[in-house]
Amino acid sequence: MAYLEPAPIKDKENPLDSMMSRFDEAARKLGISEEMYYILKVPYRQVVVGLPITMDDGRIKVFEGYRVLHSNILGPSKGGIRFDPHVNIDEVKALAAWMTWKCAVVDIPYGGAKGGITCNPREMSAGELERLMRAYTIAMLDVFGPDKDIPAPDMGTGPREMAWLMDEYSKAKGMTVQAVVTGKPLVLGGSLGRTEATGRGVMVCALAGMEKLRLNPFKTTCAVQGFGNVGSHAANLLHERGVKVLAISDMTGGYYNSNGIDIQEAMRYVEKNNKSLEGYAGAEKITNEELLTLNVELLVPAAKEDVITEENASKIQAKLIVEGANGPTSANADPIINSKGILAVPDILANAGGVTVSYFEWVQNRLGYKWTQERVERRSDRIMKDAFDKVYQASVQYQVPMRIAAYIVAIDKVSQTYKFRGGY
Ligand code: GLU
Repeated sequence: MAYLEPAPIKDKENPLDSMMSRFDEAARKLGISEEMYYILKVPYRQVVVGLPITMDDGRIKVFEGYRVLHSNILGPSKGGIRFDPHVNIDEVKALAAWMTWKCAVVDIPYGGAKGGITCNPREMSAGELERLMRAYTIAMLDVFGPDKDIPAPDMGTGPREMAWLMDEYSKAKGMTVQAVVTGKPLVLGGSLGRTEATGRGVMVCALAGMEKLRLNPFKTTCAVQGFGNVGSHAANLLHERGVKVLAISDMTGGYYNSNGIDIQEAMRYVEKNNKSLEGYAGAEKITNEELLTLNVELLVPAAKEDVITEENASKIQAKLIVEGANGPTSANADPIINSKGILAVPDILANAGGVTVSYFEWVQNRLGYKWTQERVERRSDRIMKDAFDKVYQASVQYQVPMRIAAYIVAIDKVSQTYKFRGGY
């Protein structure tokens, strides 16, 4: 008998509303026309598919999969695929639009998209996940393409899933097509530096933010929420540059040590401990909520959406927030953060290092050539620093917080490009 993955519960704070309220504010400041407003607001394609998968127990379970293509004005659409029990179409729409703004902020030639499958990867076997990813790829065969729409990893997916996608797509096309997806394993045309790329961009933005606030990295303390691909590398790279990381966390809770956490040791622990910090002995246990309001200078939310809300924003003590996650601050929390004088480096800038190195991966695949890690890092650091400076400058020019400034830079770029391209 077939059965269905239960429908996800919609969050109290809807990321689509959060995204749109910032978009509206930036669009007003920039003074774009009403026509342009709707051109930039409405995704150009939304695909929803049902995916029947034979589970290991022999039963068939039906999963829902999404791909939202928000914009292809700057180039082929780009964005990750999320495996999560809470994924729904509104979340994917918000994340797709964020990808459009993110690519525009760092000035890479892509539009924005996002994919998702409502599933719990933690409860599924590798075989079940592989069948799900391959079925999704076939369902999206006419959506994906190296010049059309290029997926990548996001929450719950990684190089392994991207390898399955590349293989299935390539089989269907009768040739190897590496550039159809980024975030692949190195041997399949992945790029050196891609794994650390998002965390590295967070570090570059954090250092640039510290410079603006005249904070010496060697005297700066930090808390990082989330110890996945983004949080762990951000923590490690910040630690390497002298910042003392007092707290880290994952789904099992927060871990605090007033003398600083040994990040390398924590990373090794997680690797051995089934990707979890549970039982990590180098620190005292706190909650994820407590982590956000610790007495530190720098806060890096690198876990999920809407963790900084109007309920807890007033208790935040950090002077600088650098958003490793997509949408960690709800729109209602923005005025509180701003009134406290906190410098918040927004997601669409701070976590754009990942898609930047995805772009480098795609470029290398198309060239049939491999760059050194040093070249990847040098070029991505420059892109991230230039983007930070551009957004900071816009925040001064328009007298707005960096978040609205980032949207202004992005909306301006996409709308200017649309004007040149023209419509019907
Ligand atoms: N999922 C990542 C993000 O949200 C990376 C997307 C990509 O590399 O295309 O930025």
